[in-house]
Formats: sequence, C-alpha cells, structure tokens
Amino acid sequence: MDFVFPTTPASVPVHGSSAYFPVHRIYCVGQNYDAHAKEMGATGRAAPFFFMKPADAVMPVADNACGTMPYPSQTQNLHHEIELVVAIGKTGAHIDVKDAPDFVWGYAVGLDMTRRDLQAESKAQGRPWSTAKGFDFSAPISPITPIAQCGWLSSAAISLEVNGVRKQDSNIDQLIWNVAEVIAALSTFFTLKEGDLIFTGTPAGVGAVVKGDLMRGEIAGLGSLQVSVA
Ligand code: MN
Repeated sequence: MDFVFPTTPASVPVHGSSAYFPVHRIYCVGQNYDAHAKEMGATGRAAPFFFMKPADAVMPVADNACGTMPYPSQTQNLHHEIELVVAIGKTGAHIDVKDAPDFVWGYAVGLDMTRRDLQAESKAQGRPWSTAKGFDFSAPISPITPIAQCGWLSSAAISLEVNGVRKQDSNIDQLIWNVAEVIAALSTFFTLKEGDLIFTGTPAGVGAVVKGDLMRGEIAGLGSLQVSVA
C-alpha cells in the first residue's frame, strides 16, 4: 500500500523484550476509586464513564530510565494521575465479565496527565474534555508486562511520589469497577481491538506538578515509571 507520507504507529515497548506493542486507541475510565471520586465531587457508585486520548499521546519510558515530559501550553494546573493500564490483545464487543481476562494482553504503569483548569472549565460549561486530557505527551507509560509473565492482577499496591514525597497511595483492589468489569462495560460502547490501552482510573491524591518536578509511579509487579517535567 502506498501512503502519501511515511507513517509509524504509536507503540510501547514490551518489558524484557525487543518487541513493541502497537497502540490502536487509548480509553480512560473516570473516577474509578472511591476516594478520588469524592475528591472530584462525586457521590455514590455511578456507572463507569469513559473518555479517550489519541494513540500518539503515549510517551513511552524505558525500564530504569527517566522520561521528560514538556510542560503543556494553555494550563496553569497540570495534574498527575497514576493509573493501572490494561493492554488489550484480542478483538471483541459485548464481552462478558467472566470472559474479560482472555482479552488482556498485559499491564503497564501509566500517568493520565490532566490540564485540571481546562477540565474544570469544560465540566462547568458542559464541553468535551479533549483539550484537558488528550494533549501531546499526556500519557507517559512504562513498558508493558505481558500477562504471561505477571499473571492476572487483582491486588497490587499503586503509588506516586513527586520529588520523593508520597502523593498517591492505594491498591488496585480498591477500583470501584475492576478490570474485568471495565472491559465488559467499555465493550458495550466500542469494539475493543488488539492494541487498545485502557487507563483504569486514579486513586485519591491527585495534584499539580510544575517544571523541574520528578514523578515516580509504581505498581507492585509491574515496575516503575519515572517522568520529569521540563
Ligand atoms: Mn484518570
């Protein structure tokens, strides 16, 4: 096939391998930890809701490396959100919760970086979140650990430090909608495809970072993700 200009898919390295996971779409779940939903002003267990980032918003950071994220334009309030990322390895729609594990190819540690001021303005005016959530470099991500290596994750500590100070600290067993339930719900809206990434939501403790800050996220069993803001 002749493309009119050269193109390369967005991709994320695979942990302990020279292979790359090609990114198809990035889905994100909103307010999926109770304490974070409360800090965002929500009450009770609502149905999960979703938004998207463009595939090339990924900013892969190699094992034991530190990525550099440019501070984005058009914000004075850039927030960190540490999240478990699920990498999808099989195509399907209307997936049952019990079948959902078959669709998981692997996991990664991700940051759903957010222009919180633009998000608040979008919420107030009933406008889309694209500029708040889907900007360039808004999805720093660790290498993907294949489920064949780490197994199905139902419990794992998740944390984020900024300049060595613990800001977010929880466990993925605190997800309101667990990974299987997220896959089932999302697949009622979209056909999930190989290459999709799902950012599953962030625990409480989100906050601002500024130029010069160093973020270090970690999920037990999946390694860490280090990103500096420049
Ligand atoms: Mn998020």
